[in-house]
Amino acid sequence: MSACVEAGIAAELSEVGFAVHMPVPIPIAEKINLDEGEFRRYIEEARRLRQKYEGRIGILIGGEFDFMPDQLPEIERLANAYEYDFRMGSVHFIDDWNFDNPGYLDRWETADVEAVYRRYYRLMTEMAETGLFDIVGHFDLVKKFGFRPDRDISDAVAEAARAVADAGMTVEINSAGWHKPVGEQYPSEQILRLMYDLDVPICLGSDAHAPGQVGRDFDRAISLARRVGWSAVNRFSQRRTFAEPLPAAG
Ligand SMILES: [Zn+2]
Repeated sequence: MSACVEAGIAAELSEVGFAVHMPVPIPIAEKINLDEGEFRRYIEEARRLRQKYEGRIGILIGGEFDFMPDQLPEIERLANAYEYDFRMGSVHFIDDWNFDNPGYLDRWETADVEAVYRRYYRLMTEMAETGLFDIVGHFDLVKKFGFRPDRDISDAVAEAARAVADAGMTVEINSAGWHKPVGEQYPSEQILRLMYDLDVPICLGSDAHAPGQVGRDFDRAISLARRVGWSAVNRFSQRRTFAEPLPAAG
């Protein structure tokens, strides 16, 4: 964690937020999230680093929750059991399929892509409607491997975007998508324009899984945000939001 903080300082960020994969039970055996003991140790470490780096960079304690309707009681328990600077809601599972995991890529080959997209955005809508989350993570992650529906599904996208707006959530402009097969940030510019029209605020995320990825391509994300129309970006502390001017792209 301290290497990520140091990387944030080197990238001249004013704060770094950790969005660890929360210990929500998932339907695959692979260990891609923390267990609750690890999560508690993460909070302790983040608090220690916050003191150590005080005055140099802010450190936010966040969690990324895998939204699955059948896990809602456990998600609610975890959400209420700890203090967060932000809670991020994401969808990585469609029923038992971890659709963004390269290990399950073959299922895309035989999938009804339109039905998958519709189910994905339905889950995003339900996630937002819980009211549990401050940020929506990688809103159009379903596009990650580049499979696209043949038919227009903008009604399903619009429904999810409206639910995000109604819940008062912030949308993350996530730069990791530029480094995935789809080669495009999350969400698309078209969706960002929809969010902007719905008065949804933004925050910036690099979805870093290594120190070298902290703050990656933020200049590019800022240029995009400005082009769409935003002039402010949200910061978070103890689940309150603070809008501040969007920095100039470098
Ligand atoms: Zn994620």
